[in-house]
Amino acid sequence: MSKCGSCQTPVSIKTVFSALTPFSLRCSQCKEPIKVDSITGGIAAVIILVAVLAVFVTQRGADNFWVGILLPTLIGAELLYFILIRAGLVRIKKTTENTN
Ligand SMILES: [Zn+2]
Repeated sequence: MSKCGSCQTPVSIKTVFSALTPFSLRCSQCKEPIKVDSITGGIAAVIILVAVLAVFVTQRGADNFWVGILLPTLIGAELLYFILIRAGLVRIKKTTENTN
């Protein structure tokens, strides 16, 4: 499980949804920055971006596109990114050494 390097709080969905970019997460508990591994995070971000773009391109003309299609897609994309972080597929860099 992916945790904050400072306070060991598991990365929450709130952490992901409140992030400005996929790489600048901030712990919802202690507000310390959580560094996402640029390789695994980058791969996940590219895959998710391509999926969102595919929806954008193919569904653009649909009725109720922005609220009915794009918004749920973006929420789904954030949710997927969160699941990948929690599953450990997108790695979190340890910012401080743990001396337990
Ligand atoms: Zn923390």
